[in-house]
Amino acid sequence: MTGAEATLQSPIARPEGPAADPVPDAWLAALPKVDLHCHLIGTVRASTFAELARREKLDLPDEPEAIWRDINSLPPDPGLYADTAIPVPQGRAPGEPDVSYSLFQASKWVVESLRSADDLTRIVYEAFEGAHASGTRHLELFFDDVPAHLSHLGLAGAMEAYAEGIRQAERDFGMTGRMIKGIDRSLSGEHALEQVRQVVDTPHEYLAGIGLDNLETAGPPERFVDAYRLAGEAGLGRTAHSSEHVPSAQNTITCLDELGCDRIDHGYYVLEDPRVVDEVRERGVVFTVGSTTSRRSWRPWRRASIRAMLAQGLALTPCSDDPGMFPTSLANEYAIMRDQNGSSHAELTAMALRGVDASWLPASERAALRSSFEAEIARLDAEHSLA
Ligand SMILES: [Zn+2]
Repeated sequence: MTGAEATLQSPIARPEGPAADPVPDAWLAALPKVDLHCHLIGTVRASTFAELARREKLDLPDEPEAIWRDINSLPPDPGLYADTAIPVPQGRAPGEPDVSYSLFQASKWVVESLRSADDLTRIVYEAFEGAHASGTRHLELFFDDVPAHLSHLGLAGAMEAYAEGIRQAERDFGMTGRMIKGIDRSLSGEHALEQVRQVVDTPHEYLAGIGLDNLETAGPPERFVDAYRLAGEAGLGRTAHSSEHVPSAQNTITCLDELGCDRIDHGYYVLEDPRVVDEVRERGVVFTVGSTTSRRSWRPWRRASIRAMLAQGLALTPCSDDPGMFPTSLANEYAIMRDQNGSSHAELTAMALRGVDASWLPASERAALRSSFEAEIARLDAEHSLA
């Protein structure tokens, strides 16, 4: 056994279960939080989707509420995961619906039901309203290419509709927010470059960066080097879903070194290579992680991976990802960290502050947000007699 293998294997045994001295519910609920990884379309609530889908008379295979209840993505290719560091469950989980709808299918139906700038503003506002209930103070939302039936808006019009939702949330909830242009990795590198060119040519104060998303198996990070280079030259933030569906630690190194990402979404399969684990720990790479996924059979694997990443001392911050569809919330993700992943008061505090530090707010706003978080957490700690 090499030294590197020894580094990874022993702490992987961090047990499933609550922290030894768990923080109280009231502390966790009031902990100020940041969500850096949340997809706008995935925030849409069952009730909103039902209303929009009925308004547009969408041809659906079931009632909209039933579709939301039965969202369940099946693993892309079970054969890929035969021999991973953390075993990936094969087969179905107990309670999985017989007929289910993938997250991507549900997302397509949501997009079809959105018909105006007002619809876009509404779902952004509701995303912030939902986040506010978790104690989220700053939210960064991925959005997709403007769909053909809304092409009259263009990127500028769509961004203005999103921005109006953020402004309303700033006013009503005292939150801040930014948008992230999602780069669909199932499409070509040329398409990505064109999307980034539009972002660069249409700057908006609320458009802070780009993020590679969709199924990792459908598009390797190398395909997007040119698009990411252009984004970097324009000073945009850069992130990517990585080491999520492909059991490759190297993809994360590619995202960091070739794409210039300043944070990573997911990253569980960095555990495949102890040298990569050491490297991302030493570089202080921040990972946005979600314990809940639409692949229901994978949830135990997700949580085991997050426990292993914590045991390896990696810099994690929880995210809600697609909270309307799983469903989950950022508060629930923090609760899972405490109750199933054993996160202590110190770890949870660090996760919240890390969210601020890794955000794409301008430096002065980020510093102000950090000061307010520190003061608020100190008050909370005193109130709950926590060190
Ligand atoms: Zn995501």
